[in-house]
Amino acid sequence: MHNLNELYRQVIMDHYKRPRNKKKIAEDELTVELNNPSCGDQILLSMQLVDNKITSIHFAGDGCSISMASASMMTEAVKGKEIAEVKGIIATFLRFMQGEAVEFVYEDLEALQGVVKFPARIKCATLAWKALEQVLGDK
Ligand code: ZN
Repeated sequence: MHNLNELYRQVIMDHYKRPRNKKKIAEDELTVELNNPSCGDQILLSMQLVDNKITSIHFAGDGCSISMASASMMTEAVKGKEIAEVKGIIATFLRFMQGEAVEFVYEDLEALQGVVKFPARIKCATLAWKALEQVLGDK
């Protein structure tokens, strides 16, 4: 435990350098685009829903390490899950970003804990999650 920050930094950099589920988005996909102008982050999020379940999810875009790592982690956290469960995961993550203690099934998300201390970066970390909220819409 002597250097939890270092561990967290490594997890974030790992997702940034080797993003999960990042690829070019096809035109016919259910997609939403969101930007975070304060940092210059851009994300395009795309998913497939079958029987209320996210059967595939991926993202494209460009941005800082926090925004891209958070997008990578988010896709890993919600793929294969049902919409109701996904909405719970989104709500949990947003509470986490407000400084609440939460538990994640997908533990890499805990690495974003340090972001809470830097309010300007919270928008970076939540960008992909806001995109996910939008693409799910009223579903
Ligand atoms: Zn950013």
